Amino acid sequence: MSLIAGFEHIVRENEPLAPFTRLNLGGVAEFFAEPTNLEELVGLVKSFSAEKLPIRLIGGGSNILVRDEGVPGLVLHLAAPEFVKIEVDDDQIIAGGGARMSHFVATAVREGLSGPEQLVGIPGTVGGALHSNTGALGVGVGNWLQSADVLTRAGEITTRGRDSLTFSYHKSSLNELVIISAKFQFDREDSKVLTRRMQKLWISRRAAQPLSDQFAAYIFKDHGGETASELIDDAGLKGTQVGHVEISDRDPNVFIAHPGSTSGDLLRLMDLVKTQVAERLSVELEPAIQIW
Ligand SMILES: Cc1cc2nc3c(=O)[nH]c(=O)nc-3n(C[C@H](O)[C@H](O)[C@H](O)COP(=O)(O)OP(=O)(O)OC[C@H]3O[C@@H](n4cnc5c(N)ncnc54)[C@H](O)[C@@H]3O)c2cc1C
Repeated sequence: MSLIAGFEHIVRENEPLAPFTRLNLGGVAEFFAEPTNLEELVGLVKSFSAEKLPIRLIGGGSNILVRDEGVPGLVLHLAAPEFVKIEVDDDQIIAGGGARMSHFVATAVREGLSGPEQLVGIPGTVGGALHSNTGALGVGVGNWLQSADVLTRAGEITTRGRDSLTFSYHKSSLNELVIISAKFQFDREDSKVLTRRMQKLWISRRAAQPLSDQFAAYIFKDHGGETASELIDDAGLKGTQVGHVEISDRDPNVFIAHPGSTSGDLLRLMDLVKTQVAERLSVELEPAIQIW
């Protein structure tokens, strides 16, 4: 029986992944699916895992570089209403794994739930943020997590409680294939105070971020004392270009993919920066971006 029998309405073959990523680069997914409910999601995962085929999940695509060759197997995308909804229950938020971080932050601020206002302007989804403990100002999104419903690679649904999870800088032990939904707990604070704090942060953050019409991503992890941006700047690499990919003038840890760029260009620029920073400053930069 065909691998996708019964799922033809939600699976596309040879789907270009570039439009699903912030860098807008890379090849196709052999199979790409946007399940409309949990049953379809579980069924697809079981079908591909029974054949031992690779399965990946793409969130907002703000931390993924897809290679020019594309990816084999299945890429899942949680875009259906069931996976993007956000509910508020007193001082808790229950968010779908595919919910936008901007929606999550706006909901918390509106409801007077303190903390997420610090993450204003960070692109991506709640699931993507939990996967890497995305954060700012020393606080990661895992900080407020109570529990998460996840789907394993074998197609089993389970709940991971706070006590079984650890979060640190850009790291999370929540590493199952799919974070389906997550429950967060917050302290209360006046919504007007949170709004003002969020607006202030957004103004300063926007000045450092790539422009909204640029295809760009943050490339390396910060390294102890000095940030990746400072290290790349100190190595004199600001403005360096490979093909059509350029190191941003605003923030050297941001690479901008101008029209005509390839993933190969970006990977070569990453290599060049890594080598030069190691040679000139004796520091090994580690990628923050995931390479597919
Ligand atoms: C302009 C800009 C600013 C940024 N600022 C910050 C910042 O201040 N702090 C910071 O930490 N990061 C920052 N980032 C990086 C990025 O936004 C975060 O890493 C973000 O949380 C990634 O979420 P995503 O949904 O886009 O994940 P994706 O890039 O789609 O995926 C990243 C990883 O998460 C996994 N994943 C995604 N969704 C799920 C899910 N539902 N279940 C299981 N796994 C999942 C993917 O499989 C992949 O392994 C920034 C990026 C950009 C482009």
